[in-house]
Amino acid sequence: MIVIFLGPPGAGKGTIVSELRKHLDIPVIATGDILRNAIKKETDIGKVVKKYVITGELVPDEHILKIVENRIKEDDCTEGFIFDGFPRTLNQAQGLDTVFNKLNKHIDQVFYFDTSKDIIIKRLSARRVCTKCGTIYNLYYGPSNIADICDKCGGKIIQREDDKEEIIKKRLEVYNQETLPLVDYYQGENILTKIDANGDVKSIFMKLWDRLVELDIIRKDGS
Ligand code: AMP
Repeated sequence: MIVIFLGPPGAGKGTIVSELRKHLDIPVIATGDILRNAIKKETDIGKVVKKYVITGELVPDEHILKIVENRIKEDDCTEGFIFDGFPRTLNQAQGLDTVFNKLNKHIDQVFYFDTSKDIIIKRLSARRVCTKCGTIYNLYYGPSNIADICDKCGGKIIQREDDKEEIIKKRLEVYNQETLPLVDYYQGENILTKIDANGDVKSIFMKLWDRLVELDIIRKDGS
């Protein structure tokens, strides 16, 4: 199964992916996580991309496409994967099509998590993340049991630099300009499912799950 999770920052893609991973043993390729990891480790690519990530700009397509092409060639990706936060530009989508043609792979479905601006801002400004294991919390919808400490690993919980209000605005601007056109692109290919992502995690997850079953991408029992 190869699926793409498309949607604005704050649509809940990361949270839904974590839910899905409880039922399906399939890797998630989240370009944002890969980039943050590279920045943290101060790798060569990490040093190049840092200035884009911290200001909410998109990292140039050639870096992203190279990262993704290398990642999908790894052994754990042979049975499929979920893209979270990729592609984010028309050029990346076309680049992905070229890579997939070469590797004889195809996209099963693109899920577009449609969310209102008010909800996005509320979710993002209250989002917190564990610095150690990456678990996502939300001050309104799902805080940790003890403030600033991760329930799962005891790591420190922080607010991402790019979840501060000014940067959120920038990221939404970039999303509307660069990423939103992908909805039409994949609709044109007839592989887009729109999911109303304004509700709670459980209802969004059920809509996704039912659609995956309906499309025959998974069976009802998740196999
Ligand atoms: P995310 O965790 O998906 O919200 O991504 C955080 C930041 O990483 C974005 O604001 C961009 O700076 C960068 N980024 C992540 N994925 C991509 C991508 N596919 N193309 C360009 N930049 C990306």
